[in-house]
Amino acid sequence: MDHATFFFTNIVSVSVFTVCISLLAFYYPRIVGMRWFAGGMILGLGKLILQGLIARVPTEANAMLANELYLVSFMMQMMGLRWFVVRGPKPRPWPWFLVGFFLAAYTVMFLMRIPYSGNLINIPFIVVCGATAWILINNANPPFIAVSRVSAIVLLAEMGVAAYRAALTNLHYMRPWETDHAQSNPSWMYSLAAMAFLATINVMCALWFLVTELQRELAEQASIDSLTGALNRRVMEEAAQRETARSFRHDRPLCMIVIDIDNFKHLNDMRGHAAGDCALRALVCATKSMLRTQDLLARTGGEEFAILLPETSVSAGIAVAERIRQSIEQLDVPFETGPIRLTISAGVAQLDSDGDNWEGLMRRADAAMYDAKRAGRNAVVGCYQSVV
Ligand code: GH3
Ligand code: MG
Ligand code: MG
Repeated sequence: MDHATFFFTNIVSVSVFTVCISLLAFYYPRIVGMRWFAGGMILGLGKLILQGLIARVPTEANAMLANELYLVSFMMQMMGLRWFVVRGPKPRPWPWFLVGFFLAAYTVMFLMRIPYSGNLINIPFIVVCGATAWILINNANPPFIAVSRVSAIVLLAEMGVAAYRAALTNLHYMRPWETDHAQSNPSWMYSLAAMAFLATINVMCALWFLVTELQRELAEQASIDSLTGALNRRVMEEAAQRETARSFRHDRPLCMIVIDIDNFKHLNDMRGHAAGDCALRALVCATKSMLRTQDLLARTGGEEFAILLPETSVSAGIAVAERIRQSIEQLDVPFETGPIRLTISAGVAQLDSDGDNWEGLMRRADAAMYDAKRAGRNAVVGCYQSVV
């Protein structure tokens, strides 16, 4: 394979990919991972151009700077992939300090023409590829599992090729400023082509990550109430249907709590709509913190909420509702014109073991909630009538 043709075609295709990824990063600034990818690709392109300019630029640029850019570009790719699967907490800065240290040591060793200096780039590069694959394998959650696994496999393959090239350098080109002689070595050139091929699959994975993220956002928008962050009525109905079937299948109890804020119209009238909205958000936040991960909280109406509690009997559901009622009663919701106080009324019902469905469950919990209203509000009422 001719060295000049290889670099020319590679630079052209990577330029196209870099422009595409950069434009996508620009159009979706909230998808931070794409910005890391775009930054990494720009540096990767710079590295390719420097490598392609062999014999036209000093070795310091053609070999040293090119290798340094490559390591930083993979660090940026790692940050991008991490964003998609981890999101928070923010990454610690020490990996960057470590890479900075290796880059400085490599620069000094290269400039002083100390043999084997290439290992100061090769080894961190292999470690970065491995660490990125490790992050992907250990942190991927739906819907990112498939793309993370494919991406991790590509990174492990890149790690393998990089290790092979490191061994090649150590065996034949122990003085890295003489890497230009390697261009005539087919093993060197084919492994370089393998890296270029894997880098192309990496770009495909970046696009796959972006599409998955956009799909996730759409699904979230379609299932979450934007004011409070609780699930919406449609998702609750689907979940109730699913949980009802599961409850019958495993003969396990299923409980529902219906919550309605007391005299909410009065709060809106006296303190304004913004205060009402603030109270709704605070109620959801406080209630969520008291639920288990498998419990579902949905906003089913203006100031009405439903909680679905799998594997929970009516008496346990009443205890949960009572805890929520007490904590809401004690809540001082901070608001610009002074703290807001509110109370709730709640009704609790359990799925009947005989011919019941989720509509019946919700109707009985709703009726119990109205009993709590009639009992003077700020109360919890359980519906035992059809529980066997
Ligand atoms: P009760 O104790 O009997 O439940 O009385 P209430 O005033 O809470 O009940 P009502 O159904 O009369 O009032 C509900 C109010 O909720 C009326 C409506 O303006 C208000 N509301 C509905 N959705 C929203 C919302 O998204 N934000 C705000 N701030 N208010 C809302
Ligand atoms: Mg109401
Ligand atoms: Mg109300």
